[in-house]
Amino acid sequence: MAVATRTFRRPQPVLGRLAMAIPVVLAVALGTAGGTLLSGALLSWPPGPETGGPGTTPLPTPDASPTDAPTLQPSPDPTRSPRPTPDATRRPTPDATPIPTQPPTVAPTPVPPADPPACRYDDLLTFHPGLDSWRKSLLDTIYALPGSYAPYDLVDSSSAGLNRGYPIRAIVLDDLAALVADARAAGAKLGVVSGYRSHAQQAVTFQHWVEVAGYEAALRTSARAGHSEHQLGTTLDFTTDGGPAPWEYADWATTREGAWMAANAWRYGFVMSYPRDAFAQTCYDYEPWHYRYVGRELAHRIQSSGLPPRLVLWGIQ
Ligand SMILES: [Zn+2]
Repeated sequence: MAVATRTFRRPQPVLGRLAMAIPVVLAVALGTAGGTLLSGALLSWPPGPETGGPGTTPLPTPDASPTDAPTLQPSPDPTRSPRPTPDATRRPTPDATPIPTQPPTVAPTPVPPADPPACRYDDLLTFHPGLDSWRKSLLDTIYALPGSYAPYDLVDSSSAGLNRGYPIRAIVLDDLAALVADARAAGAKLGVVSGYRSHAQQAVTFQHWVEVAGYEAALRTSARAGHSEHQLGTTLDFTTDGGPAPWEYADWATTREGAWMAANAWRYGFVMSYPRDAFAQTCYDYEPWHYRYVGRELAHRIQSSGLPPRLVLWGIQ
């Protein structure tokens, strides 16, 4: 996966952007429903704090109870026409404790639509851009990481028993080492051809594919800068140790290594981000070598769902 040439812009003028965001390539099937749902999600920008999800911005308490209550006593009667006799009707509980915890309940996090937005191209900040949110940071052709996103705990791929030269986050190490060892024991000798890629490197990578295959084709197989899961530091492109790059195979998933990964990677917390025949959901071509680490629990959930990771991740934004 790969890269982007455009500079990352924050998603403020969402509506304007939406209007102009005309997916060049992906005239793909999604009807207007997806677009409508997306606008709903976008309107709630900016995303709330990590725990909050999209649009946690506390809405104004509709019924400002705390300030309201006091007025019950002094306010001379006539002015308050709406409730002439405040007490009788209004105070189920005598000294109605000013319903303090109202805001969270009143303004629940907007539930994202069941399905992620249709494939299109934009540069919106992902809902969970923090380094600690690596499990759920949704990255696709629309949502991206900021250019400043750079893991601080990178280690070399050789620490996990793979060929050296590819940085990965230390948090991936234990499960990755177990995966590599078990694969090897099963006769599958894995190698790696890509690990962490910085925002700048991704820009170069994407440009490379543009030059090789043209912009439209590059969009299907590579990510614009900020949109790549490789920037997370938790994603690797595997291949057969000592073999060519995985994309040189007709279908790497049919090799011993690729098949072992397809069947077992999830047990170690890794999921294939761009499965076969899922372009409409992932917005990228099939990449049987590209695995993102999401931890064993979430990987199990994704595996059980039978859905591409993007759909499951969308559900937890
Ligand atoms: Zn990749």
